[in-house]
Amino acid sequence: MIVIGAGIIGLLTALRLKQQGVDVSILEKGKVASEASWAGAGILCPIHPWLYPDSFSELVNASLDLYPDLQSELDAETGHDIQRIQSGLLIPCFAEDKVHHQAAATRWSEKFGWDMQRLNPEQALAVEPTLSPNVDEALLWPDVYQVRNPELLTAVLLYLQTLDVPIIEGSEVVKLLEDKQGQIIGVLTAAGKTYDADAVLLAAGSWSQTLAAQSGFSLEVQPVKGQIVLLKTKPNTLKHIIKHDDAYFVPRRDGRILVGASMENVGFERGNTKEVFNELMAATRRLMPGLNDAEVEHQWMGFRPGSADGLPFLGEVESKPGLWIATGHYRNGVALAPITAKLMADWMLGVQPTLKMEDFSPNRNVQDSQQIGYPKA
Ligand SMILES: Cc1cc2nc3c(=O)[nH]c(=O)nc-3n(C[C@H](O)[C@H](O)[C@H](O)COP(=O)(O)OP(=O)(O)OC[C@H]3O[C@@H](n4cnc5c(N)ncnc54)[C@H](O)[C@@H]3O)c2cc1C
Repeated sequence: MIVIGAGIIGLLTALRLKQQGVDVSILEKGKVASEASWAGAGILCPIHPWLYPDSFSELVNASLDLYPDLQSELDAETGHDIQRIQSGLLIPCFAEDKVHHQAAATRWSEKFGWDMQRLNPEQALAVEPTLSPNVDEALLWPDVYQVRNPELLTAVLLYLQTLDVPIIEGSEVVKLLEDKQGQIIGVLTAAGKTYDADAVLLAAGSWSQTLAAQSGFSLEVQPVKGQIVLLKTKPNTLKHIIKHDDAYFVPRRDGRILVGASMENVGFERGNTKEVFNELMAATRRLMPGLNDAEVEHQWMGFRPGSADGLPFLGEVESKPGLWIATGHYRNGVALAPITAKLMADWMLGVQPTLKMEDFSPNRNVQDSQQIGYPKA
């Protein structure tokens, strides 16, 4: 089998396939693990999950349930620490907020079994003294974890190496090859090399649409650029992930804090901009004045593979037997990677998922969602 794309989705699915005895190779157009999966913030919980259909929350919960075992497995097999830590997530609420999430967040947490606590301003400032004293209330989910993306990717890559899974960099797939009946039989790369395969998994992140279109089917995935600013502080300056509609803050164990992230519909335009930097810093001063003195250490960006309804595409393409899709994970690909990898590998080997997958079908009629779909230009 061939996997197209060496992001977290392609890498982890290839790992699960190999563990079941499949001869699998990964083709990567650039460098492994260097796009969205490297750039992301690693929050292991969707942003505002109550805006999504229930099927999505079920997928998320199933994925997060797999993380403890994945962490132990990667640790045992590679000795590499993915820095998955229970930092908890806190949403501060202010009178001037455009959207007030309290009621929907409370309902969602009860329905999907998440412990949520409502903190008054004194309690909020006691747990996070860097917060603005203007905070009205805060919603705290103590059971939210984070992972450090480059460490997760390093561990998965090390494990793939020990299993001898070929990862061929600088190998852009430009065409899916099929026989007269439309059955997928391999791929063609930009260098003119062909690879035979009885099944192909398209896990090419934001670039998936181009490849799908070249092969004559429609897969609406668009890049949504996200810029991040990295602050350097002392460890424990911030303890929880802080999430607000204007910015989020993710404290790493070593004291570094990610401030993110923009949501830009600018195609594949790379690089960080002064405008977004200023917006993120203004949000930091407003929401988290206790971080005003933090040193800005670095900036980066990545392209989230966005879908119009905010949901991933998972499954086989009806019109092209043998072509499997796992992409469009948008803002949640790291959270959803363990379940994606498990169910795609099983499914490609003939085991039907037990979760309801209709909402994620690559053959679905995608409905635009203003709230959770990619931003319109
Ligand atoms: C700023 C930012 C913050 C984020 N924060 C979070 C978060 O906190 N939590 C969370 O769960 N998710 C988060 N995400 C989203 C998450 O990172 C993505 O959903 C996830 O990484 C997608 O993984 P992927 O493997 O599909 O894509 P990618 O990591 O983009 O990998 C796709 C790979 O396919 C390769 N490729 C493309 N076309 C071809 C081709 N034709 N041939 C061969 N190879 C090809 C690319 O070069 C790339 O390496 C964030 C993303 C960004 C950018």
